[in-house]
Parts: sequence; C-alpha cells; structure tokens
Amino acid sequence: MFYQRVAVIGVGLIGGSFALALKGAKRCGHVVGAGRSAANLELALERGAVDSFESEAAKAVRGADLVLVAAPVAQFEKIFLEINPHLKPDTLVMDAGSTKRDVVAAARKRLGGNIARFVPAHPIAGAEQSGAGAADAGLFRGRRLILTPLEENKKEDVETAAALWAGIGARVSRMSPQEHDEVFAAVSHLPHLLAFALVSGIGARADAARLFGYAAGGFRDFTRIASSDPEMWRDICMANSDQLLKELGCFSGELEKMRKLLESRNSKELEKLFAEARAARGRWLNGGYE
Ligand code: NAD
Repeated sequence: MFYQRVAVIGVGLIGGSFALALKGAKRCGHVVGAGRSAANLELALERGAVDSFESEAAKAVRGADLVLVAAPVAQFEKIFLEINPHLKPDTLVMDAGSTKRDVVAAARKRLGGNIARFVPAHPIAGAEQSGAGAADAGLFRGRRLILTPLEENKKEDVETAAALWAGIGARVSRMSPQEHDEVFAAVSHLPHLLAFALVSGIGARADAARLFGYAAGGFRDFTRIASSDPEMWRDICMANSDQLLKELGCFSGELEKMRKLLESRNSKELEKLFAEARAARGRWLNGGYE
C-alpha cells in the first residue's frame, strides 16, 4: 500500500502525526497540507509533516490518492463541500473526527457519489496539546483506531483503511457511528466536560488565586485535559450533546449518591464505593477490559 499523493486537511496534532507516521512507514510520496493558519502550515513544513501546502482544501486534494480530514468536526461539512468536486473517482477519503454521527451526516450531505469512498475513522490517541508543533510520528502506535464503516463503503476500501492505520501501529476496531458516540460520550467527552467545569468553577471564584496557589498533583492530574483546545471540545460537545446529556445525568446520579453518603456520615458505604472504583480502574489499567 503506497499513496503517491496524500492531502491532509487540518495539519494539527492528529493530521500532522498521521502525515509523519505515514512518511515514517514509507507509505506515501508527496504530502500536501491545507489549513486555516499559515504559521501552523509553515511549522508543519519545517517539521517535515508536509512537503507543500495550500490555503484551500479544494486545491490540496487535486490529484490526491488519499485524503485525511483532521480539522475540528464543525468544519467538516464545509470542507466536504469544498473538496467534493476535486476528488478523483478512486480517492480514499478518511477523517479523524472525535464524533461520528454528525461527521457521517455531513459526509452524506456533501460528498455526493464520493460517499462510498469515505471511510470514517477516529484514532483514540491524542493529547491536550494542539497544532503541528505537537505532531508525533509515534502517536498512534499501540493505540486504538475506531472505524465506523458505512453501508455505501466497499469491503476492500474498509480493509484498506484498516490496513493503513494498522501499518502505522494502531489497533483497529469497528463499530457503528451510534455505538461510537455512546461509548465516547461516557469515557472521553464527559471527562473533558468535568475537567473544564472544575477549573472554570474554581477560576470564577473570588478566592481563585488562593485556591490555585495551593492546588497540587491531584488537581493537576484531574484537570490535565482542561488544557485541551476549546474550539475542538466545543464542537465535540455540541455534536454529541444528546449522548453527553445522558452521561451527565448518570454522573449527577453518582454525585447525588456520594452527597447522601456524606450527609448521612455513611463512611462504610463511601469506602466500599471508593474501593470498587479503585478495583475497576486497576482492572482497566491492567488491560482487563480489552
Ligand atoms: P488541532 O487544533 O491540533 O488541529 C486542527 C487543525 O485544523 C488546525 O491546524 C486548524 O488550523 C485546522 N483547521 C481548522 N479549521 C479548518 C478548516 N476549515 N479547514 C482546514 N483546516 C482547518 O486539533 P487536533 O487535536 O489535531 O484535532 C483534529 C481532529 O481530530 C478533530 O476533529 C478532533 O476531534 C480529532 N481528534 C482529536 C484528538 C485529540 O486528543 N486531540 C484525538 C482524536 C481525534
């Protein structure tokens, strides 16, 4: 599997890492990037993630055999609309978006007959840093990659997409867009919302300086992901708001349970709950849920 010309739309952490990984695995010739910020594209060029760049996605995809869309998810519909007339009939198009039902709906609306060649993907790898400066050729190694294939896809295109991500070290699984959005609302989108909420709540208090002044390791661990890109997380939370609201409801129930245990001074039950949580996290860390 070798792609002569690859277009990456949005050469940030994920798009830049994908390009560096493909190059490292010698799976591609020329990589062209497109994006919103000239400074970021210059940095991607300097770092060797792209060989050239264009300011317009439409220009970047001309002649490309493979396209990866890796901008924030609310940009996808516009990007699909722009690139659609310029795709070759055999171009494989993938995305890296963190939500899937909205991305699939945007693709169905804007990719016309090219929808069959669009294989939705979500790498379960990332960081709170963003931009081409944070790109890392090894980002996907050993990490999960979820494909949410469409009924329009040809089996061989889905297999090609799976082989491509496996070739840069990812462990590929498949699920439906609905299942994807349910799962990641619980284990990714909710934790980000909570981290943002905790930091924003403390930051808005009159005694914020005193509180932050004494915050230490536990606070740092819990809130690491509140350093993530606000635009990206705004788009994810809005796109998956129905599933996120369900998870928020479950979480509020858990908090309420804890509040009642504290009010009734039920130390035994509180310790039991903490012990169960610690055991579940231990199983997860040791690969017990793989
Ligand atoms: P990033 O901010 O590092 O990169 C996004 C890039 O897209 C930026 O360089 C930005 O200039 C560019 N961009 C924005 N609007 C654009 C447009 N209209 N056309 C072209 N380019 C545009 O973000 P990232 O972390 O690389 O995330 C990219 C995608 O990958 C998002 O859809 C995100 O949901 C998904 N994702 C992120 C992570 C993570 O942890 N960071 C993990 C998995 C998937």
